[in-house]
Amino acid sequence: MGLKDFFKNRRLKKVKLKKPPISYNGQGHDLKQAPKISDDELCALWVKCQGCNELLYLSTLKKNNSICKHCDFHHRLSAEERIELITDYGTFLSINDNIIPDDPLKFTDVKPYKKRLEDAQKTTKTKEAIVTGIGNINGYIAGVASMEFQFIGGSMGSVVGEKLTRLVEVAIKKRLPLIIVSSSGGARMHEGILSLMQMAKTSSALKDFHEANLLYISILTEPTFGGVTASFAMLGDIIIAEPRARIGFAGRRVIEETIRQKLPKEFQTAEYLLENGQIDMIVHRNGLKNTLSDLLRLHLTNHNNATSKDVFKQISKEHLLIKI
Ligand SMILES: [Zn+2]
Repeated sequence: MGLKDFFKNRRLKKVKLKKPPISYNGQGHDLKQAPKISDDELCALWVKCQGCNELLYLSTLKKNNSICKHCDFHHRLSAEERIELITDYGTFLSINDNIIPDDPLKFTDVKPYKKRLEDAQKTTKTKEAIVTGIGNINGYIAGVASMEFQFIGGSMGSVVGEKLTRLVEVAIKKRLPLIIVSSSGGARMHEGILSLMQMAKTSSALKDFHEANLLYISILTEPTFGGVTASFAMLGDIIIAEPRARIGFAGRRVIEETIRQKLPKEFQTAEYLLENGQIDMIVHRNGLKNTLSDLLRLHLTNHNNATSKDVFKQISKEHLLIKI
């Protein structure tokens, strides 16, 4: 039963009550006179847990970092919520915001790619499927990137690859550790070969980063798939996943149809990957920030008391103002 049906049934049950309920001042009130709330408005206040199907009040869920209090399922966070979660308040400064996507192939599927981009920009209030910048994590400065799944499935187009590459270059130049939070369906088919090229570009930039002996922590969240898993997401020095996050390359159904075998129930979950040595640890969202700052402290080589604002000032204007 969908949320709309649930609220409709509940309202009908209330109207059928014989005695009107007593209000706070002792007088009965007529439910028919009560201000009407539309089904859409009610649905916007509640969500169904993807883990246990319980109805959750949205505001309570948000207060608990979008973790279900019944089954501990970690629901998706927007890029902004993720940055708020892991960085110190007011320290995150985004860079390369002016890089905007284009439609080089004039691609159209159900609707034109340009229209799809405009819709995604309106819904998510971001220009692309990734936010990059510099921020402090419990006082430790780092380059931080977070993907926005609501933006065309967090797919990696040329802007996502470019913003990531530039962030890696800034991190090398300023000798900063790097934290990338992935949540993506893979490469963006609307940009064809240009999106596939981002796999090589980001991997190449991370090779330079690795050779500079700097720390890269990759965080995999529900879901991380396709070209993102096949490139930067799995290249971390330390790879962390959230509990029960689905991580893989091709989807489960596609693999089952190809190999004509039933896959294990836990296949492509964070727990399965940890058991098989593909990731280093699973960290609960409420402990993620402290785990990150512990790792940064352990790997700190040349801490110079710089803050994100100091480093931001040093980044040259061409990093902030270039458009592609
Ligand atoms: Zn739940």
